[in-house]
Amino acid sequence: MAFTYDDQNIFAKILRGEIPNKTVFENDHALAFDDINPQAPVHVLVIPKGPYVSFDHFAAQATPEEQIGFMAAVSEVCKIKDVTNGFRAIANAREDAVQDVPHFHIHIIGGRALGPILS
Ligand code: 5GP
Repeated sequence: MAFTYDDQNIFAKILRGEIPNKTVFENDHALAFDDINPQAPVHVLVIPKGPYVSFDHFAAQATPEEQIGFMAAVSEVCKIKDVTNGFRAIANAREDAVQDVPHFHIHIIGGRALGPILS
């Protein structure tokens, strides 16, 4: 499928420094920051720095370096936030999953018992 990236989305503005964020971790290919509306004591968003709309877009078209850098950022966030008791990683894509921001992101949610995967 074809993917079209809109560079006016909120996370693109965060990457350009136009909107502030509470950075948890950053490397050459990814930025991780606290969600503005946390659903649990730990709620971090990990985003690639490249223009990818969704997880399937990133998985299909990101370079190996971008994918490795992104996964490294997820690993660092888990260490920094010390989610030793567990966490949930969520990536919403398009309408059925109610993706609000059209820049690929993974929610890392933890710090409390989260219950079943869907409710
Ligand atoms: P989605 O529904 O797209 O998977 O999730 C988007 C997430 O982005 C939501 O959890 C929302 O709280 C978060 N969010 C939206 N705008 C901002 C913002 O300006 N700053 C931060 N840190 N998070 C935001």
